[in-house]
Amino acid sequence: MEIVLSGIRPTGNLHLGNYFGAVRSFVKLQHDYRCYFFIADWHSLTTHPRPENIRQSVKTILAEYLACGIDPEVATIYVQSDLTETLELYLYMNMNAYLGELQRVTSFKEKARKQPDNINAGLLTYPCLMAADILIHRAHYVPVGKDQEQNMEMARKFARRFNIMYEREFFPEPASFHLSEKAVKVPGLNGSGKMGKSDGNAIYLTDDEKTIKRKIMRAVTDTGPQEPNSAKPEAVANLFALLELVSERDTYDCFNEQYNLCNIRYGDLKKQLAYDVNLFCAPIRERILEISSNSAQLERVARRGLEKARAGASKTIKEVREILGFRS
Ligand code: AMP
Repeated sequence: MEIVLSGIRPTGNLHLGNYFGAVRSFVKLQHDYRCYFFIADWHSLTTHPRPENIRQSVKTILAEYLACGIDPEVATIYVQSDLTETLELYLYMNMNAYLGELQRVTSFKEKARKQPDNINAGLLTYPCLMAADILIHRAHYVPVGKDQEQNMEMARKFARRFNIMYEREFFPEPASFHLSEKAVKVPGLNGSGKMGKSDGNAIYLTDDEKTIKRKIMRAVTDTGPQEPNSAKPEAVANLFALLELVSERDTYDCFNEQYNLCNIRYGDLKKQLAYDVNLFCAPIRERILEISSNSAQLERVARRGLEKARAGASKTIKEVREILGFRS
């Protein structure tokens, strides 16, 4: 079965954008591929050298993924810093990556601009660690956004270079899996753009009923359509897009008709949207609370994930050592 690997950044809670844009697809993917999901806590050191409560952030994100339906019996979910085999492969990747090509990576240049006082070597060799994360499992596919495409190119280049240098087809060249082309873009609540972590723009899976209602009632709208069947301005289209994701088709059609007939009341639309978002989030929220409160279970899941990840990773390292001529 082909292998899919995906890294998850341990930054904050999941919102509806993350859910519909990525996590929902992962839940499906786990049944069609051998999936590895890892929480990328090492990577976060490149930008946050003294991460606050990294263990808590890792636990939170683990609980949220499980609550969304990642099944640790089906997929392998582990914490990057637990799988120390990756470090050895990272070292070999570093020996085989050239300064010039690393300096040309756009995300390196962007981050170097953003943090001129901390242009650390980890930032420069980010593509080497990413390649090690992927190649340690000899993964075939990696779901990434467009922003990661260049890093994926590097991972393919490093795999190819290794195969050529040591004259064997050892690492498959990992292909990008563009979830974003198939998945929906979830809009934010502040009138334009997509849902993200900026203030007041996102509905988190952990938001309670009151919070959801407050955020949605405050969402940007306009004075309403003046002519029948007019195009929806972005802020209004965004509310309809959310409605389409969480509500019944009839509900969507009903409000859409009211809009087209110019008798829509945004207050009613928002109330319905808040009700349906809460209906959608409530079971996930309850599972998050339940799973988060059970530290022992989370610990078991992380250990089990590590065991499964390690089985293949240690085999990769053993074989790489043999190829290079080290004792294995
Ligand atoms: P982030 O936590 O912002 O790095 O997002 C992690 C992943 O969630 C992204 O790579 C996207 O696949 C997905 N995602 C985040 N926000 C949205 C959104 N508003 N609409 C669709 N997908 C999203």
